[in-house]
Amino acid sequence: MPVKQAEFFVSNSDPAKCPPPDRPEYAFIGRSNVGKSSLINMLTGRSSLAKTSGKPGKTQLINHFIIDNEWYLVDLPGYGYAQVGKAEREKFAALIDGYLTSRPNLLCIFVLVDSRIDPQRIDLDFMTNLGERGLPFVVVFTKTEKLSQVKLQAALDRYKAILLETWEEAPTFFVTSAVTALGREDILGFIRPLNVE
Ligand code: GDP
Repeated sequence: MPVKQAEFFVSNSDPAKCPPPDRPEYAFIGRSNVGKSSLINMLTGRSSLAKTSGKPGKTQLINHFIIDNEWYLVDLPGYGYAQVGKAEREKFAALIDGYLTSRPNLLCIFVLVDSRIDPQRIDLDFMTNLGERGLPFVVVFTKTEKLSQVKLQAALDRYKAILLETWEEAPTFFVTSAVTALGREDILGFIRPLNVE
């Protein structure tokens, strides 16, 4: 079932100012340019709900959207800008850390990775960090329409094999494309039952 209603709620750079944790919440994060804004727009069926990401130096914000008056979709800042210096990286880490530790309603984090790029240390470290905090996450493969089925399967196998070096079980993977809307029903079908648990 498609999303009926998607509304911007609030943007902020202070986790303490996020909305009250009164609805289930799902956060989306990944390296800049991974396709996060495009995925959020695809999931919600809105062409420009999430703005395509800012450039280095742009204020990094936590954006809350309310979906179907039922759950929060959270667009977290993109990480891994090559050009960003230590001070910016530390600010980003503090913002994400503050967010992750202050949301009791956060049910799952969607970690986006570009299906065409080899597993990156920054993403793997982020997943390890989530695991250490006991926060549930899934992996979203983006831009998959760019790969043949064979290459996509090889990329998935490779990613899972690397994760299995650290984890006992591979996390759930979603295969998506913002161009073809592949994965939309899978992701919404994953979220909705969690909302009513
Ligand atoms: P963000 O920085 O993670 O928010 O990424 P954007 O959503 O702004 O996308 C970054 C670039 O990747 C843009 O040029 C998008 O058009 C492109 N892109 C995003 N999703 C897809 C996809 O599913 N397929 C393809 N081929 N390109 C995509």
